[in-house]
Parts: sequence; C-alpha cells; structure tokens
Amino acid sequence: MKRALITGVTGQDGSYLAELLLSKGYKVYGLRRRTSTPNYENVEHIKDQIQWISGDLGDLASLIEAVRISDPDEVYNLAAQSFVAASWPQPIATGQMTALAVTNMLEAVRIMKPLAKFYQASSSEMFGKVVETPQKESTPFYPRSPYGVAKLYGHWITVNYRESFNMFACSGILFNHESPRRGLEFVTRKVTDGVARIKLGLQSELRMGNLDSLRDWGFAGDYVKAMWLMLQQNEPDDYVISTGEMHSVAELLETAFSYVGLNYKEYIVLDPEFVRPAEVDLLLGDCTKAKEQLGWKLEVDFKQLVHMMVDEDMKRVKSETRYYELMRS
Ligand code: NDP
Ligand code: GDP
Repeated sequence: MKRALITGVTGQDGSYLAELLLSKGYKVYGLRRRTSTPNYENVEHIKDQIQWISGDLGDLASLIEAVRISDPDEVYNLAAQSFVAASWPQPIATGQMTALAVTNMLEAVRIMKPLAKFYQASSSEMFGKVVETPQKESTPFYPRSPYGVAKLYGHWITVNYRESFNMFACSGILFNHESPRRGLEFVTRKVTDGVARIKLGLQSELRMGNLDSLRDWGFAGDYVKAMWLMLQQNEPDDYVISTGEMHSVAELLETAFSYVGLNYKEYIVLDPEFVRPAEVDLLLGDCTKAKEQLGWKLEVDFKQLVHMMVDEDMKRVKSETRYYELMRS
C-alpha cells in the first residue's frame, strides 16, 4: 500500500487529492494545524479515513515528525497562505507560510525520507504581469503580489532541491482552479454564493472589484489528478496545468447570474475595497506539455464549473436558511 502525506489537506485541493488517493488505495496522512476552530468542512466525509498528524508549516520539528510518522512514498505540499488579496495586508506571514515554509517541508523530507517524491503547489500568479501569452513552463516570471513573490521562492527552492540533492521534486504551475469547496473570499465562490443569496432573497447586492481581469479557470477535481500524475513519472519535472481558455470576471458574473435567470448588472456594486494595489490583468495557460507527457486531460469546462458551483451554493444556502428558521421557531 502506497503512503502519502498531504499538507493543506483540509483545503480545497487537499480534500480532492485525499479522495483521489484513497480511491487508489493509498494510506493518506494529513497534516492538521492547531486552530481555535478546526476546519473539517471539506473533509468531513473522509475524515475517518485520513491518518491525522498535528503540525504547522512554520514548525520544522513538527514537519520532521510528520514525515517520520507517515514514512511517505509521496509528499504533496499544498498548505499555504493562499489568498492573493490577503498577501498585501499580511506580507510577512505570507512569506513565512507560502515561501520559507516550502524549505521547511523540503528539509523535513531531505532529512527523513530523501527518496520520497515531492509535489510543490506553485501558481500561475508567478507569471503576474505576463511577458507572453499564453504562459507555459518556459515563460519568464513577473509576480505582482507578495503572494506571487512568495510562490516564486517556493517554485525555485523546489527546483533547487531537485538539482542540489537529486530529490524527486516537482513543481506544478497550476492556473486558477475552483469548485464548490473553494474559499468564499475567492471571486468564483464569492459570485456563486452571492447568486444563491440574491436568488433566495437573502441579499440584494454583490460588492465587487475589477470586473475586467481575465482568468483561466478550471475545476479543482481535474487538477489534483495532474498532481498525482506528476509524481508517477520516471523523472521529476515542472508542468503548467490550465484549461487554455480565459474569461473575464464580468463573464463569470454573466454565466452565474443568468443560470438562475437574473441580470448581474442589476446587482453589482463596484467597491474600491476589492480593487488590488497591483493587478494581474490576464492569465492564460498552455498545458501542451502536461497533455503530451502526463496524458492529463480536462473533464469539466468553464460553464459546467460555474453551474456546478451555483447548484451547490443554492443547496447549501437553502439548507442553512432552513436550519436558522428551525432554530428561531
Ligand atoms: P486553501 O486555501 O483551500 O487551503 C490551504 C490549506 O493550507 C488549508 O488546509 C490550511 O489549513 C493549510 N494551512 C495554511 N497555513 C498553514 C500552516 N501554517 N500550517 C499547516 N497548514 C496550513 O488552498 P487551495 O486548496 O485552493 O490551494 C492549495 C495550494 O495550491 C495552495 O498552496 C495554493 O496557494 C496553491 N494554488 C492554488 C490555486 C487555486 O486556484 N486554488 C492555484 C495555484 C496554486 P486550515 O484548514 O487549518 O486553514
Ligand atoms: P487570484 O487570481 O488568485 O487572485 O484569485 P481571486 O479569485 O481572488 O481573484 C481573481 C480575479 O478577480 C482578480 O483579478 C481579482 O482582482 C478579481 N476580482 C474582482 N472582484 C473581486 C472580488 O470581489 N473578490 C476577489 N477575490 N477577486 C475579485
């Protein structure tokens, strides 16, 4: 039985990856950090199948212990401060958890299990103010946020450990990927949750930032398959994972609101609070290498993704409303 250690297992990607690995018969170890209210929402359904290990990305001793306990064949380093907008007000925490912590994880693996295969969750945000379109593995980086800068460090330290210590370390340069498990602060989920609340009469407007930015949005369930495929190759390498299609935030709004029969223009309020100090205007990935070398393919397209997220948010908001009504009665 193969053994995998996942950091960030309670997050969007970690939960889909844990499901995938469990379905393949892996023994899955998940790093869980101490928080005032543990966040099991995404993994409630598989919580009992995960071997939980306490640890924090910032605490090298706990990571060494996590690798010792799990004795993994594969390590997926998904944990991070993952929200771009939060990286301006918290640039140092972002640097610690999204950049330097990658070295903590690599060191833990190098010291305890140097033959384990290592996956680093890198990001298209590293391309930032893009110097070519579409972006591929050879495109030069130009990050535009403390998050993008931190991810760039994580990417290069992963490449460096591969070249310095001959570790099987891969960096997946993933473009935006979403799902009903995406955090509510990210634009797709903010929109689909807003659509559900407006449709159900619980909210009358949605306050938004830049509607012109363009993103290459895919489905997280498809993207975790690419992570796994990278670690099944004979040689470690870096891969772009994307859909090769881009849509504006305005198109996202149109797709989500029209699905429930509403016109988004009647509900959107532009709010400077959601405009960023520096913007990434467009991201569009070319994942030819992943398709050819990994045999990776996309199953869910943009429209299906948005509709799936609206459907799930409608269900969730309805059941929450019923719950509060019951509590009041
Ligand atoms: P999420 O924000 O959903 O999950 C982040 C995870 O990191 C959570 O499990 C969180 O735990 C954990 N975490 C945060 N800080 C620490 C810490 N100090 N110690 C231990 N665990 C910690 O992110 P996603 O699942 O969306 O993304 C996964 C990875 O992929 C991230 O590194 C992200 O930056 C990267 N990425 C994501 C993209 C996307 O579009 N989703 C695109 C490209 C890269 P807790 O539940 O306790 O908060
Ligand atoms: P990112 O690409 O990792 O920053 O993912 P986000 O989902 O946070 O943002 C995607 C794009 O949507 C960015 O260009 C944001 O500026 C834009 N955007 C516009 N309005 C909003 C908003 O209200 N919230 C968020 N999160 N993003 C917004």
